[in-house]
Amino acid sequence: MDLQNRVIIVTGGASGIGRTISLTLAKHQAIVVINYRSSEQKAKALVEEIEKLGSKALAVKADISKFDEAKFLVDETINQFGRLDGLVNNAGITDDQLILRMQESQFDNVMDTNLKGAWNMAKHSAKYLLKSPFGRVVNISSVIGLTGNVGQTNYSASKAGLIGLTKALAREFSTRGVCVNAVCPGFIKTEMTEKLDPKFVEAYLEKIPLRRLGDPTDVGNLVLFLLSDLSSYITGQVLVVDGGLVM
Ligand code: NAP
Repeated sequence: MDLQNRVIIVTGGASGIGRTISLTLAKHQAIVVINYRSSEQKAKALVEEIEKLGSKALAVKADISKFDEAKFLVDETINQFGRLDGLVNNAGITDDQLILRMQESQFDNVMDTNLKGAWNMAKHSAKYLLKSPFGRVVNISSVIGLTGNVGQTNYSASKAGLIGLTKALAREFSTRGVCVNAVCPGFIKTEMTEKLDPKFVEAYLEKIPLRRLGDPTDVGNLVLFLLSDLSSYITGQVLVVDGGLVM
């Protein structure tokens, strides 16, 4: 799975699952553009780590929920490397609350980051991805977008919306051979899941057939495959990586 000289943007690429995706792609010779919103130190440290591996990387600060900042991220990529071959829409947030108590702003913030952010990035990247002979988009959705979850009306709607976005984009980009797929992780150990009550985690573990929480590398390896030539006949699909939780 050689990604030599392919330029790939990973949104929220400095921490959690995004960090593992960035590192995995760099280990396979991709040029990775690591987007961050607040994790500047982590992003710079990751660029150094990747350069030590002999690959190229660039850290770009941008809030992808903002149309103009998403454009800035794509423009910086083109200014620096002159091409764009892959986009991984990984940036995402949660802000859980039962709907009776959820504020309108909680709904809007989650939708703006998780769904509109991905649309913003696809919109600004489209003309470059369509020119690439290796064009790929991978949207990081969630099993919660398939099943729904109590206290996550905002998050579930955003992640289900991302699946619709994936299928529509897959059809639009298909004429140029650009593949677009969604990945739905289950329960993956990151800062996002560290906030959860241990009793909830224990109960969740009981429901996972493979009896372990996922590791970010479980997601990173699937994303690598979807960005590689090995997946060139797969588009518009929703791939679940959850230890068998949803089947
Ligand atoms: P995380 O550790 O909380 O990381 C989230 C990342 O998103 C951070 O790098 C953050 O950047 C970035 N981000 C958030 N808002 C942003 C914005 N407006 N603009 C740019 N970047 C932004 O979460 P994670 O667990 O790695 O999750 C990564 C993705 O996987 C998310 O889409 C999440 O919904 C999805 N997912 C995770 C799990 C899980 O179990 N962990 C399960 C299913 C799906 P900064 O740190 O720079 O702010």
